[in-house]
Formats: sequence, C-alpha cells, structure tokens
Amino acid sequence: MTQPTPPRPLHRDTLAVREAVARSQYGENSEALYLTSGYVQPTAEAAARRFAGEEEGYTYGRYGNPTVSSFEQRLAALEGTEAAIGTASGMSAILMMCLALLKAGDHIVCSRSMFGSTIRLIGTDLARFGVESTFVSQADTAAWQAAMRSNTRLLFAETPTNPLTEVCDIQALADIAHNAGALLALDNCFATPALQRPVLFGADIIMHSGTKYLDGQGRVVAGALCASQAMVTEKFLPVLKSGGMSLAPFNAWVVLKGLETLDLRMRAQSDQALALAQWLEDHPAVSRVHYPGLASHPQHALAMAQQSGVGGAVLSFDLKAANPEQARARAFAVLDAMQVLSLSTNLGDTKTLAAHPASTSHGRLTEPQRQAAGIGQGLIRVAVGLEHLDDIKADLALGLDTLS
Ligand SMILES: *Cc1c(COP(=O)(O)O)cnc(C)c1O
Repeated sequence: MTQPTPPRPLHRDTLAVREAVARSQYGENSEALYLTSGYVQPTAEAAARRFAGEEEGYTYGRYGNPTVSSFEQRLAALEGTEAAIGTASGMSAILMMCLALLKAGDHIVCSRSMFGSTIRLIGTDLARFGVESTFVSQADTAAWQAAMRSNTRLLFAETPTNPLTEVCDIQALADIAHNAGALLALDNCFATPALQRPVLFGADIIMHSGTKYLDGQGRVVAGALCASQAMVTEKFLPVLKSGGMSLAPFNAWVVLKGLETLDLRMRAQSDQALALAQWLEDHPAVSRVHYPGLASHPQHALAMAQQSGVGGAVLSFDLKAANPEQARARAFAVLDAMQVLSLSTNLGDTKTLAAHPASTSHGRLTEPQRQAAGIGQGLIRVAVGLEHLDDIKADLALGLDTLS
C-alpha cells in the first residue's frame, strides 16, 4: 500500500502527524492497528510475485505489516532518509545492522562510551563470530582515524552519550568512514530527529531505540534503522526475514503515535533540562554538571551546531565528596529522598527518571574501568520529564540540601 503523492512537499511538522500508509476503506482518522500474522492473497500468481519481491503486498507478519510500515515511513520522513525498518528493540536493530553489513574478518570502530549492551554485543558476542572491533574515546576524532584498518567496514557512534553526554563530531566521523570506503552508523536515541538529523552531517545509517523518546511515555520496547531504500531493501530486509527481529504491530502503533508529539516533547523536556542543569551548577552539594546545553560542557559549541541549539533532556551531575564511599552514600541519599521522581534506569519518559549509573547501568564494570569511563560513585543521571520544574527541583533538593 502506498500513500497518494501529496500535492506539494509537506513540512516535517505535518509529516510527523500525517505520514503513514493509506487509510483503510473505513476512513479511520487515527492510523489503524493491524493485528494479523498472515495475509490473504488475491491470486496464486500474485502470491508468487509478492514472495519473489516483484510486486508490493504483505505476505507474512514477520516480513511486514501495514502499521509497522506507517511507523517506518513516518520515522524516515523525520530523519530525512529514504526508508526505515522497524525492529523488536533498539538492540535488535543493532544486531540486524551488524548481521547485514559485517562478516568474519571485518572490523568495526565504536566509541568506548556507547550504550553498555552495544559494547557487549559488538565486543563480545559478535567477536565470537570473528568480527573485530576497536573502542575509542568518544570525542577524540584523531583516535577514530587512528583505529581505521584496511578491513574496517563500519564506524558506530552515539551522541550525546549516556550518562556523561559526551559529544562526537558526526561530520568528521562520516569523512573518516567514507575516505576508507566504510559506513557511519549513528545511534540517535538521545537527541532524536527532533533535535539532530545525522544524515545532514553525512551519517549513512541512523539507529533508534523506539523505547526511549520516540514512544516517549515509557510504554513499549521498539527499535529501527533508517537508511537509503537500497540498503533497507537489499541488506536489512533479508536479515529481518530470516532473523525474525520483527517489530510487533501494537508496539509500532504506540511509537507511531508517539512520533506525533516528539518535537513538542523534546523541546519542552530539553528546556526543563537546561533550567535544571543551571540550577544544579549553582548548588553547593554539586561539583560538576554534565549537560551539552551548558557553556561549561567541553563540546558545547559542537553540540549546539549538531543539535539545533538544544541540549536534550538527559543530564548527569557529580556530588562533592571526600572519597568514593562517601560519594556513593550521598548519591543514594539523594535518590532515596525523592518522593515524586522515579528511581529508574530507563530514559525517554514524560516522567522524570533518576538513577545511579555506577551501581546499575555501569555496575558490571570494574572500578578502574568505571574511573576510565568517568562514571564516579557520586554521579546521578536525570532524564528530565514534563513535571513542573519547581517540583523536580524540590524533589532533588530534599536530599541535596541535607548534604551541604
Ligand atoms: C536503550 C538504548 C539502546 C537499546 O535499546 P532497547 O530498545 O532497550 O533495545 C541503545 N542505545 C541507546 C543509546 C539506548 O539508550
């Protein structure tokens, strides 16, 4: 099913609420949720052509679904890519990308500060299949260049990162990749296409955890890859068909509707995060705030250029402390004193979530590894939601004010 071509190019805001597969014969205004595992074929000939890929048409739920297609079309429109493909989770999107583009003996370069499960998938699980990897310092462009080898096929970055919001130069990494005949993939979970469109800086593949801001209300797990039509059809779709990391229609529908308010949410939550970051910078119990929107952020100018001048909704901060034991006790005291905010390691929700990375998301690292990554025992991450800013500050102040 294809959408009738609109009479004129539509703006992104319009596409965010309109781009989807055609309405059904019932004329529903909200996009239909097609819960079906199979499809009835009009003729045996048509079925043969559809299975051979010579004719458009749905054949089986693992291969495609109209609600999933609506989500894919809408996300591609927002990212500015020709196509997108939905997956069961963000991690299965990364798995699909690696299975589609890499083979034994190939090499991938990633940032050391990437999402923990991404490091594990690439550095450990794929290594068992002979895929080589090098992890470099996020913001050090020269280190990315130095890691390149003749067998490097893919560079994979995430910006800003979790939890320290380190920023990498997308255009510089795209140039390094392309000069070597490799591709640049970018995990755009934190900024989302509302703030950052990596294709404009030369990225070839944009990866999403739909679980985060695309849904935005903490309801479902979902993922996607955005890329050229050729890459989606020729590389990713065959792996989806055989690998089966397909996005469930219900989850696709939830995230599809989430995309309608993505820009509004990201801007509102980022405004709150900036105000909270400024307030935390002035708090006597806080030693340092990590937030791309602050002038004190080491890559502030680059972040503003890449992220439409907006810092995003995630920040983290270090508490003043004499030693790691005291730092941990103080962080726990701040988190346990909260009465409104959620103590949760997730992010991308309208509810503000706060967590202690050193004992949760980065708990499996050794203390020296954590120190190298800059994840101290006094670090607290906050994914800022839509509560009133005064209530967010007051809830954090319950613990913070007892420390100073
Ligand atoms: C959550 C997350 C992922 C993984 O996504 P899932 O949907 O949980 O599989 C990948 N990258 C980043 C930056 C994330 O925050």
